[in-house]
Amino acid sequence: MPSRRKKSANSDFRSLATDILRCADQGTLIGDYLREVLSLIIETAACPQVRITVADLTRHYRFTRTAAITGNFHFAPIAGFGDAPFLPPFDGVSDVELLERLVYFGRAADDGIVIGASIDSPTVTMRGDDGRQHRLAVPSGIGSLLILPIRYGDETLGVLTLLAERPGFFTDADGDFYRNIAAVIGIARAHRQAKFHLRERIKELTCIYRITKLGSDTGRSLDSLLREAAEVIAPAFLFPEAASCRIVFDRRTYTSLRYNTAKHILTSDLRINGRPRGLIEVSYSTDLPTLDKGPFLNEERSLLEAVAKELSVIIQRKEAEEEKSALQNQLLHADRLVTVGQLATGMAHEINEPLGGILGFAQLIQKTPDLPEQVMRDLDKIVKAAIHTRDIIRKLMLFSRQMPTQKSATDLNERVLSCLDLLEPRIRKGGIRVATELDPAVPVIVADPAQIHQILVNLVVNAVQAMTPGGTLTLRTSHDGERVSLSVEDTGCGMTPETKDRIFVPFFTTKDIGEGTGLGLSVVLGIVTAHGGDIAVESEPGRGSRFTVTLPIAVAPDKGEDHA
Ligand code: ADP
Repeated sequence: MPSRRKKSANSDFRSLATDILRCADQGTLIGDYLREVLSLIIETAACPQVRITVADLTRHYRFTRTAAITGNFHFAPIAGFGDAPFLPPFDGVSDVELLERLVYFGRAADDGIVIGASIDSPTVTMRGDDGRQHRLAVPSGIGSLLILPIRYGDETLGVLTLLAERPGFFTDADGDFYRNIAAVIGIARAHRQAKFHLRERIKELTCIYRITKLGSDTGRSLDSLLREAAEVIAPAFLFPEAASCRIVFDRRTYTSLRYNTAKHILTSDLRINGRPRGLIEVSYSTDLPTLDKGPFLNEERSLLEAVAKELSVIIQRKEAEEEKSALQNQLLHADRLVTVGQLATGMAHEINEPLGGILGFAQLIQKTPDLPEQVMRDLDKIVKAAIHTRDIIRKLMLFSRQMPTQKSATDLNERVLSCLDLLEPRIRKGGIRVATELDPAVPVIVADPAQIHQILVNLVVNAVQAMTPGGTLTLRTSHDGERVSLSVEDTGCGMTPETKDRIFVPFFTTKDIGEGTGLGLSVVLGIVTAHGGDIAVESEPGRGSRFTVTLPIAVAPDKGEDHA
């Protein structure tokens, strides 16, 4: 029985071509699509076997449909199909796969093979590697054979093969019919591929867009940005359900939610100002088809590199912004110092003199004999208030570095002991235990001993106030290279992060009026800065605080003179 395609060649072609094109728009898996196409063709041709061999990404696959009921659809990757076939410069026998490869590479004299006529031993003509025509015998057992190139434009995408054992199963008209069908499959395949590439590009562009958008969100922290970026990258890959992403930056790791230990990894460096600081890693945890590099496409390598570059630029910008705002804060602080300094100098001028008069005259009157009790008490109040005011002005001047420093060799341990001596009654009254861990080898430093004493008194008084009633006050000294450290630690009430942020602001206090002026730590900061040192604070509410002052051993240029 010849091929079933008998009624009207035109209407057959139109309906088959329409069905093939329609299928191309449905489903995404190539296997599902070609199963449909092969079913349509085998229904029309009624031959025992139809197969399509196509290139997909970097491999070739063969899809076979047989008329037999069982196992009638099969597909498998074909190794070596894309390697140009070597055709010996002599006539010989062949197999169907060799003939398919020859058609795929355009070696068939008639641009495809159409064998339908009833002849005893059919042969085909092929162009050999030597450029001459060769006749190859069609494998035995095959009476009718169509092998037609699937093309789109100049590109050959695969071959369509129809097989029958009986000679004369296909006519020349069938050859033309299926050649046109192969051309339709070519169009459908190109259309599907274009759609596939478009979808991949859209995924990639979406990923880049979302990363850029994350970068433009100025309120977002770097941590949150990198965590979000790890989520955005994995879906841009060809097998999103198996992909996961990990970003490592400055030894911190951010992973997508479904992060798996990897079988296949693609990485790209994060370089900030030319220095490698981390990497982005996309990984697949399962076995997947081999593409350009493992299961990854060349386009995906370019995408990851583009994402890494974009993220690096974003990180660089964020770090520059953070640096700028830290500088602005420093400037603000310096500004505040200058303003308070100017204010203090002005006040010292305007107030110190009348204050001196008030204090002097009050003390003079105190010496008058036989003053009434009430007048003595009032005079005492005047003297105390005047001394307190003078003290505040002195503190302001210390904070703003308007007090000249008088540097000399200063023994830190000696200062600690003398401060404890001075404050002993207060410490005892507060029920506080004192522990000292003084480094006997701490070098003598060049500093203003009175100001170092002031630092200690302010820190210890604060510690005592934070602990009363009862606790442990620990004072430590140590040295390291060019610097010495002094720490004052208490087991008192501690500070909340909000309080800790503001403790160096002049007049900031959490204490009652009369208990604190809010100038103690401002003064400490002023003195430490004037000595070229640093101060660090650690504190936990309910557990206590530790203030650590670090000072240079060698003579530091007297920064206080800047404002003098
Ligand atoms: P004052 O002690 O006069 O309030 P300071 O500048 O010395 O001014 O301190 C500012 C604030 O810092 C205090 O009011 C207190 O809230 C907090 N503080 C300072 N030292 C300690 C400490 N050792 N423990 C808990 N809080 C402290």
